[in-house]
Amino acid sequence: METRVIPVDREHLQSEDFAEAAQLLRDGELVAFPTETVYGLGGDALDPDASRRIYAAKGRPSDNPLIVHIADTDALPVLAEEIPQSAWELADRFWPGPLTIILRKKEIVPDATTGGLDTVAIRMPSDPVAAMLIRVSGVYIAAPSANASGRPSPTCAEHVYEDLKGRIPMILDGGSVPIGLESTIVDLTGETPLVLRPGFITIEQLREVLPTVEYDPAVVKRVKDETIVARAPGMRYRHYAPKGELTIFEGDLDRVVARVQKEAEAKLAEGYRVAVLASEETKDRYHGLTVRSVGDREEEASVAAHLFGTLREFDSMGAEYIFGESFPEAGVGQAVMNRLMKAAGYRIVAVEE
Ligand code: AMP
Ligand code: MG
Repeated sequence: METRVIPVDREHLQSEDFAEAAQLLRDGELVAFPTETVYGLGGDALDPDASRRIYAAKGRPSDNPLIVHIADTDALPVLAEEIPQSAWELADRFWPGPLTIILRKKEIVPDATTGGLDTVAIRMPSDPVAAMLIRVSGVYIAAPSANASGRPSPTCAEHVYEDLKGRIPMILDGGSVPIGLESTIVDLTGETPLVLRPGFITIEQLREVLPTVEYDPAVVKRVKDETIVARAPGMRYRHYAPKGELTIFEGDLDRVVARVQKEAEAKLAEGYRVAVLASEETKDRYHGLTVRSVGDREEEASVAAHLFGTLREFDSMGAEYIFGESFPEAGVGQAVMNRLMKAAGYRIVAVEE
């Protein structure tokens, strides 16, 4: 299959330019498109064959459910039932935007889309390209991130092409996405509302609307291990992961820089291809090593925006070992560290001296 990459001019969006993409979606085919979080791989959410195509194109396990993207809150009662007041309040405050809400699904949403669950994940994206695609196609768009399963999520059309070339008919190229991390997911189907995945919208922001919201215990879980390689089965979560072995060092920044330099030099001396994940503030303090800055420590959003692209860069340089700094967990830093720790398979080293 030929994969066509169609540039879209976000300054001058015209519905005619979406006609072909919209037709593909109505025909049950797949279209990758930009959202404000990451690129999504879209298909008709109510068509089980389209959902199955998404899983096949990504190589994604079919029990990992998809997020359904909508352009209007009118879609909520079409897709979900037992909608609590809190869902409307969150939608009112954060939609369109990077928040996904889990609700009880209606019959109309096929099991293929929800991975067999009786709940459905719904989001209204703010990106005008995504919104226009949903409107013009007239379908609810099921879309996980448009990466091959296990790879870092795509933040530009080139990443999508890298992973899915030949597997999907079309990519809408809207340039680099502004946020760069997947949406915050909040589950409203239980007794206590839970954040299942941290994102650009922080738990503090959610609490302004929904004071009782908590993190799902799995989100805050972290395994610290001084022996560097924590290989207990089930602990090596191969999501967001670069191909090389990533280890994150945390603690006093000067000590972290010194330790990263030392560990990286040691692997280099053994003949491995080694890279360092650093920040604007520290990148010039390493010597004789391949260093990439992921952003400015003072601006969590800049780190978020460049994290996945940087992890992909390590892959293209063939890095076998990557040594990285940790980042402050304030605000969106919580989501940054969540992705970074998963990418590192929870290999996190506390630097004490
Ligand atoms: P992606 O957009 O690729 O990050 O994938 C969608 C994410 O939403 C996955 O992490 C899913 O596990 C999560 N998700 C989707 N639907 C549900 C649901 N009904 N319940 C819990 N998590 C969900
Ligand atoms: Mg994903």
